[in-house]
Amino acid sequence: IMAELLKRGILATVNQTIDPEIALQIAEEHGYLAEIQKEGEEVKIVEELPQEEKKKLLGEEEEEEENLVERPPVVTVMGHVDHGKTTLLDTIRKTDVAAKEKGGITQHIGAYKIKLSNGKEITFLDTPGHEAFTTLRARGSKVADIAVLVVAADDGVKPQTVEAINHAKSAGVPIIVAINKIDKPGADPERVKRELAQYELIPEEWGGDTIMVPVSAKTGQNVEELLENILLVSEILELKANPNRPAIGTIIESKLDPKRGPVATVLIENGTLHQGDYFVAGFTWGKVRAMFDERGRQVKEATPGTPVEVLGFNEVPQAGDKFVVKPSEREARLLAEQRKQKYEEELQAKRTRIHLENLKDVKEINIILKADVQGSLEAITKSIEELSEKFEDVTINIIHSGIGAITESDVMLAAASNALIIGFNVRPDASARKAAEEEDVDIKIYGIIYDLIDDLEKALKGMLTPKE
Ligand code: GDP
Repeated sequence: IMAELLKRGILATVNQTIDPEIALQIAEEHGYLAEIQKEGEEVKIVEELPQEEKKKLLGEEEEEEENLVERPPVVTVMGHVDHGKTTLLDTIRKTDVAAKEKGGITQHIGAYKIKLSNGKEITFLDTPGHEAFTTLRARGSKVADIAVLVVAADDGVKPQTVEAINHAKSAGVPIIVAINKIDKPGADPERVKRELAQYELIPEEWGGDTIMVPVSAKTGQNVEELLENILLVSEILELKANPNRPAIGTIIESKLDPKRGPVATVLIENGTLHQGDYFVAGFTWGKVRAMFDERGRQVKEATPGTPVEVLGFNEVPQAGDKFVVKPSEREARLLAEQRKQKYEEELQAKRTRIHLENLKDVKEINIILKADVQGSLEAITKSIEELSEKFEDVTINIIHSGIGAITESDVMLAAASNALIIGFNVRPDASARKAAEEEDVDIKIYGIIYDLIDDLEKALKGMLTPKE
């Protein structure tokens, strides 16, 4: 395992904590399906593949090199509302040179793949905003390889821009910035660059390593250049897959269609999915009855990097579920049943999330801080830093902070990174409250900085009395 970490440029010792995403990858390469636990970002093995499959997985590693072919990058578009995400996704969709030969009418299936004039392909997740990204991440799936951050040149960096940056960073996904709306008279791309620099996104011309492309999603100006840069980054990432193995993918969208029954979009990550394949996805399983592309055209197979709408699930799977092809109906069904049973047992055992009242023995605390005004935010941040210095063996990370109400997106980020949410003179909105309840995320609201710091300090000393 150390050698495998080294291959990834990580020099680890035996008792070192490693990144959960990396742990997950390595576990999978060894034939264990794992999941990032919302609690503590710990990685947990959820399933051990049968011995022969494990061997295949491990043996394949070497013999596979020759089977590996380039796969299209999967890109998510993020940014503040009204900065042009939807427009950009529409404009990009129109650049698909294969559109004519494909025919059919554009359907929303949660993702689409385009072909550029040089023959290369790119897959875009087309649920605007970071909703899709955060729900998938909160469930332990990292599907996007690259994030395109859209920032309107006439508006600059806004709260959701910062959120998007933090989401991408915490998932370890490289960011390409699209400075949008440069056709507008008030556009000031330089200002956007200056503002982004505060978040460690430094353009190449200033000696940084963030690609920033000024574009107009509306007129299409420079959109091609943006796409070329996406390909450039994906080349560096060396995205490869083996099309000659049973398919593995992730559910990116699902619904119950009144006519067609349970329908889900699967993003194929490795292998090729064929009509007639048996599969398991989360607690459900099925047989691929029919598959459709983003133009509603029926297809017989789907290769790595391709999103495809699949019919034939027994029940509606959840976005973020792993989709794995199995050799027989029996295996697929048994696996789904076992998982369901295990899940129910775990529910019984009641999972514990981080709460201010049970901080004892915690080495690291992640905090999401929301406040009404910048001044308070700064004062609180400073006080928390001072407090952190008092406690040598505990690290306090403010993983995200911002002005305004606590949103659902804050809660999803908290769930994905096992963080507490602290609100100063702000409250959670209705959807955030609901999400916090579902995800068991602790939200604390304060109106006086002293109280906030006092509670934190008591909590760190393990002295905060639980209130019911
Ligand atoms: P989203 O909320 O980020 O998905 O933003 P939209 O794509 O819905 O865009 C918001 C508004 O900005 C719409 O009225 C678009 O027509 C407009 N818009 C988007 N991109 C551009 C652009 O490059 N130039 C101009 N002038 N307007 C744009």
